[in-house]
Amino acid sequence: MASIDRDRRVSEVTGMIDQTRIRAACLIGWPAAHSRSPLIHHYWLRKLDIAGGYTIEAVPPEDLAAFVLNLGGQGFVGANVTIPHKERVLALTAPDERARAVGAANTLWYDGSELRSTNTDVEGFIANLDASAPGWDATETALVLGAGGAARAVLFGLLERGVGRVIVANRTRERADALAEQFGPGVEAVAWEAIGDYLPRTGLLVNTTSLGMRGQPPLDIDVGRLPPQAVVSDLVYVPLETPLQAQASARGLRTADGLGMLLYQAVRGFELWFGRRPEVTTELRALVEADLTRA
Ligand code: NAP
Repeated sequence: MASIDRDRRVSEVTGMIDQTRIRAACLIGWPAAHSRSPLIHHYWLRKLDIAGGYTIEAVPPEDLAAFVLNLGGQGFVGANVTIPHKERVLALTAPDERARAVGAANTLWYDGSELRSTNTDVEGFIANLDASAPGWDATETALVLGAGGAARAVLFGLLERGVGRVIVANRTRERADALAEQFGPGVEAVAWEAIGDYLPRTGLLVNTTSLGMRGQPPLDIDVGRLPPQAVVSDLVYVPLETPLQAQASARGLRTADGLGMLLYQAVRGFELWFGRRPEVTTELRALVEADLTRA
């Protein structure tokens, strides 16, 4: 099991002297990948003058259960969870409705003595749309491309927000069909090849595939077929501006980007662990942008 070095954590993060008051959260993953979460949470801890910490904990699959079940015993008030543990933590915690519907949790917190889990990609996606394209929810039809974990969070958020019709297209058709079956009559699966036919009736286009990511081919669709009031949301955040977003902006369409979602999804975890609701500021965005540009 990963060892917890409380002193290291404290000095790395805030340099606070009164260690008894330190509340710390962590990111549980395997292997320990580079993540922007420490940068985001340390920024908020500093801004809000909270004596807290956030570490990355490399936990191999065979140690996951022991680590999670003793999270509080190790001094942690909660955690983020990333690949490959996001699905397995559901059985080790009490998941909320979002985590259950998405089939994966990315945030753990204590509700009294009970370890709960949720999926904050749902509110990250919605809050970013609200901030980037206010009024987006006037749309009646959303077209979601992709059917992986991120698509599930997007579907849950759109339906919860009251979007009447959500169309899902995925390269592997069966995965889109499975989502339509799981989420019910508000979601319709269509063929990947038919995307172009649906664009003229789409008020919100969401890319949840990895197309457009650095090293991947771009998403090859004609944004010119979208209505002029359409909003385009791309979950990919490396590069910061994907070819899809660049095309949408060039056409004067409003966009919501993947970095915004990444920042907004972190808000709830911080609030659950440290008791204050942090803000997504332009300063924070610039910090993370600089880190992404360096990578
Ligand atoms: P995932 O579960 O692996 O799903 C990947 C999706 O991309 C699948 O629908 C897959 O289709 C599709 N895809 C991959 N290559 C494709 C290709 N060449 N042509 C067409 N479709 C292709 O991944 P995920 O967790 O859902 O994440 C998807 C993307 O969202 C990633 O870029 C991730 O970084 C991003 N994301 C961003 C945030 C954020 O906060 N901004 C949060 C979560 C995820 P098949 O089913 O046919 O394989």
